[in-house]
Amino acid sequence: MDIFLRTRGDFPILSQEIHGKPLIYFDNAASSQKPRSVVDTLVNYYETSHANVHRGVHELSNRATEAYEKARARAALFLHAERAEEIIFTRGTTEGINLVASTWGAANLKESDVVLLTEMEHHSNIVPWLMLKERLGIQLRYIPVDPEKGTLDLTDLGQLLEGVKLLSMVHVSNTLGTINPVKELCTAARERNIITLVDAAQSAGHMLLDVQEIGCDFLALSGHKMCGPTGIGVLYGRFALLETMPPYQGGGEMIETVDFDSVVYNVAPHKFEAGTPNIADAVGLAAAMDYLDDLGRGRIYEHDLMLAQYARERFGALEGVRILGPATERAGVLSFLFKDLHALDLVSFADRKGLALRAGHHCNQPLMKKLGTDATARASFYFYNTVNEVDQAVEIIEGVRRKLLG
Ligand code: PMP
Repeated sequence: MDIFLRTRGDFPILSQEIHGKPLIYFDNAASSQKPRSVVDTLVNYYETSHANVHRGVHELSNRATEAYEKARARAALFLHAERAEEIIFTRGTTEGINLVASTWGAANLKESDVVLLTEMEHHSNIVPWLMLKERLGIQLRYIPVDPEKGTLDLTDLGQLLEGVKLLSMVHVSNTLGTINPVKELCTAARERNIITLVDAAQSAGHMLLDVQEIGCDFLALSGHKMCGPTGIGVLYGRFALLETMPPYQGGGEMIETVDFDSVVYNVAPHKFEAGTPNIADAVGLAAAMDYLDDLGRGRIYEHDLMLAQYARERFGALEGVRILGPATERAGVLSFLFKDLHALDLVSFADRKGLALRAGHHCNQPLMKKLGTDATARASFYFYNTVNEVDQAVEIIEGVRRKLLG
């Protein structure tokens, strides 16, 4: 049996009926489902090993500390970071980017400094910088998107990089499925001493990632989009840079010593992890990384791409459809639109048939404007999805289209 078909048995949630129909879960870009091994890891942690971490002098605290720090080392291996101290546990990509904006950004940016983004950023990689713009008067500049091709227009890259302090960009677009050439962009940035941040929310669970090969200074990901629990993510930061940065939040864990009127901060990464961390979910995330690596991230990418290309062909043959995003250099995220049929209507009716799609601006409002719409319907695939599900989805979508448009 196909290795990926076999994985369906690891995801009990997928074998249920929704509104009396077999579930087809095509909303993986919003959040993936969790394999039993991750759920079991969480249960096992709580049943056998939970206590607060660090400074404990009893057995359970030692166990929890060991499990938590092992998870950090696992994340370092997953990203090919040079050392575990380059891994900061966060709530997710959003918090990772906010951490960089409010620590590195606030310490290193001043009025009129330029932060370069792209026009296909998720709101979580726009709003933290807009907030710094309000606070410090920095300027934001955007690498344009070619709305027809769905790719970045890099014609004027040299000019766009001029005078930039930080380049922060999405690896895989959550609306267009575009894979951006982050390695090339980081190289161009490094030649000009520009700090780089990669938003890997949509790529981390879907392809091999090597922060040293990409050459980025920061990279943020979310556990829940890659088979891990909600509420946990990773911010990778180059250690030499982390050492120079001020802390994020203040509290326990992030200090070395405290007096009534002074404080000495802990070293990285603890300096950025104030308070009791999300121990269980970090351990669960490490189990998700094991699961993905057992399957092989290269193979996961091939499978996602195969489904996306097949869906592109099949959806593209439907009457009045517009498919967004590039034909090649793409991942398993497919946005589409029908003339005279709003994405929200399509997706609500599809839900009645058991098909879980997503409709809306996907937290990409500026990109939507550029694409000339306010919303798209989006199907996003993962390794447990099948060609047969794409065929069924086409039938459902065509049925809804006929029902609503006649
Ligand atoms: N960036 C991208 C490209 C995303 O798709 C998402 C989630 N939709 C985020 C950032 C934010 O991730 P989270 O909500 O897990 O913090």
